[in-house]
Amino acid sequence: MPVDILAIAAHRDDAELTCAGALLKAVDAGYRAGILDLTAGETATRGNADLRAEEAGRAAEILGLAERRNAGLPDAHLHNSEEARRIVIGEIRHFAPRVVILPFPVGRHPDHRVASELGRDCCFLAGLARYDAPGSPYRPHKILYALSYREDPLKPTFVVDITGQFDRKLAAIRCYSSQFDGAKAAGEIFPTGQDLYSLVETQNAHYGSLIRARYGEPFYTHETVAVDDVIALGVQSL
Ligand SMILES: [Zn+2]
Repeated sequence: MPVDILAIAAHRDDAELTCAGALLKAVDAGYRAGILDLTAGETATRGNADLRAEEAGRAAEILGLAERRNAGLPDAHLHNSEEARRIVIGEIRHFAPRVVILPFPVGRHPDHRVASELGRDCCFLAGLARYDAPGSPYRPHKILYALSYREDPLKPTFVVDITGQFDRKLAAIRCYSSQFDGAKAAGEIFPTGQDLYSLVETQNAHYGSLIRARYGEPFYTHETVAVDDVIALGVQSL
């Protein structure tokens, strides 16, 4: 069965850190959500691939995912190659999502940058009827870039209010104790001296404040967002 929304991420735990709240909110609204982790995390400094698989499974349960899969591409050696494209296109055709969340195109870890480009390219190519990859042709409708933790001078296109989902997001992140217990930073998150869980809370509270909510997750789209009813627009100006 297809999913409505799919997060594609380089590493297990990336989606939890950047967009778990939006996934949870979609699931709460009755949609089907999935995660495609591109690598198994075999070159991580902490833990190992088997342990991270267990952790990712527990997090998937908390997030209420319809399905979580791993593309098995090489961790820390991710490339937008023909071989990788064929695998990721097969996965996109399998999930057949309407909306795809990708990492932001700029990243501290090269895998994050490559995952963003690889994901976008594959979303397009998956729709080509004659592209030689597994599955039936399918092209997602919408691509969102997860903007969490980015310091680029770029305003989010929108922020999702995840106040009602934040506790479960943090519980999903806490599943990755091999990665995060005692950690002061992770992925794109630079250290401030706080422990990682507290740092995630601070960051999400900041994004929430942009829409006058307790917790939020920021996203960017290349396309302009359409509005039907300007009277109903939220977020007080003055
Ligand atoms: Zn990562």
